[in-house]
Amino acid sequence: MGRSPRLFVVSGPAGVGKGTLVSLVRKRRPNLGLPVSATTRSPRIGEVNGVSYHFLTDQEFDDRVKRGEFLEWARVHTNRYGTLKSEVDACLARGQSVLLEIDMQGGISVRKAYPNAVLIFIEPPSWDVLVERLRGRGTESEESLAVRLQTAKRELGQAHTYDVRIVNDDLQEAVDELDRTLDTYERE
Ligand code: ADP
Ligand code: 5GP
Repeated sequence: MGRSPRLFVVSGPAGVGKGTLVSLVRKRRPNLGLPVSATTRSPRIGEVNGVSYHFLTDQEFDDRVKRGEFLEWARVHTNRYGTLKSEVDACLARGQSVLLEIDMQGGISVRKAYPNAVLIFIEPPSWDVLVERLRGRGTESEESLAVRLQTAKRELGQAHTYDVRIVNDDLQEAVDELDRTLDTYERE
């Protein structure tokens, strides 16, 4: 049976393990397109401009919005994040499936632009585990933790609007399930 490249969206609350899962699935699928988003947030320690994100000033982000360069963009927590059309088109032109790790507002916008997109929601095994992981990552101040947890509550309540839900409890099992999901839709 043949395969066709698909557009996938992965969303879920901050700290649920999206970044971890995506980087592991990428190792198994070197041909998966992972466009680099743009953001107005400041880089965290270890993040590299053009690799983790394209880090932009507010003015630069505004200019790109005006020029229509975003497939979607949204305000998440206290900053703006957006998917650049040029990045997605480059992957699709190479015949690659594309995986966007973006928030749920972005996911809904992508579905409008690409009704064939597959929306995957990553869930924590429990609320307490989510809080533990987010704290354990050690990247957030108490204030930014509180904002992320507030957003997380809202997102968990909307998980049913996504096509697929994967619980990230055992990491290896969750990677397997994500990998299988990509496979299933590419062969559809
Ligand atoms: P996100 O990208 O969703 O914000 P991260 O990938 O940064 O989340 O993961 C948050 C923290 O949880 C990290 O410290 C990561 O190592 C840890 N983590 C991710 N998945 C699991 C898992 N299945 N079990 C235990 N810890 C996990
Ligand atoms: P972080 O600041 O932790 O890197 O990301 C915060 C949130 O922004 C995450 O939920 C992440 O999925 C989301 N995000 C990252 N890039 C984009 C994007 O291009 N568009 C949208 N809508 N959300 C994004």
